[in-house]
Amino acid sequence: MKNVLENLQRYQDLLLRIRQLEHELTTYPESVEKLGQELKQHLIAVARSEEQLAENSGQKDRKEEYLVLCKANLEKFEQDLMEVTNQKEYSAVLKEIDSTKREIHETETVIITLMESTKQLKTECEQLKTSSDQLQVTHDEAISGFRDTNQGKIKEKGKLEKEKRRLEKLIPASHMRRFNQIAARRAGIAVATVTDECCSACNMKIRPQMVNNMQRNPDKMYICDNCQRILVYIEPDGDDS
Ligand SMILES: [Zn+2]
Repeated sequence: MKNVLENLQRYQDLLLRIRQLEHELTTYPESVEKLGQELKQHLIAVARSEEQLAENSGQKDRKEEYLVLCKANLEKFEQDLMEVTNQKEYSAVLKEIDSTKREIHETETVIITLMESTKQLKTECEQLKTSSDQLQVTHDEAISGFRDTNQGKIKEKGKLEKEKRRLEKLIPASHMRRFNQIAARRAGIAVATVTDECCSACNMKIRPQMVNNMQRNPDKMYICDNCQRILVYIEPDGDDS
């Protein structure tokens, strides 16, 4: 029984380690996760900046088209001025000329402002692109590093799974059933050790009577009164063989 219990304990260690390895193999480390988030935010910022840039250039193009139109109008009004026949017409055309000139001046000012902001946006956009490219490289390197580390873990997992299958054949089916029932209820921990008369899983003191029985009768299965786990007795000198 002592061997069966030890096998069960080893079996439990294997299951826990395999579970841990599976988690590590499928979960990016926090540092990689953080880099990924940062990269995502950078890419959003680049897209937003490109959008703004396109909108700005579009606005500038429309103002330039409008300016051409205004200048053509001015030319037409100046032509009209030569052909007026009375003072009233003269004043009216002059008024049109004045307001068109004002419009041209205002449009030119807006165009200059838009050109300046477009230039600034272009620089910002380039900077964002450069830093997001750098971040992409760092992120890719971190992921490939993660995959490299995983190679060792995949190997370890394969070895442990082989040992697990070997133990499954060694451990009697009734014990295996009991183990699985308790493990399912107790987060995978079905076996606890008894050292210094305490259960390693729940820390409760084991009745001295039971400890005595365990020492005298190692071929029986004992269950912790408190947490209901299978107990493996460890000799006080640490020699449990
Ligand atoms: Zn216990």
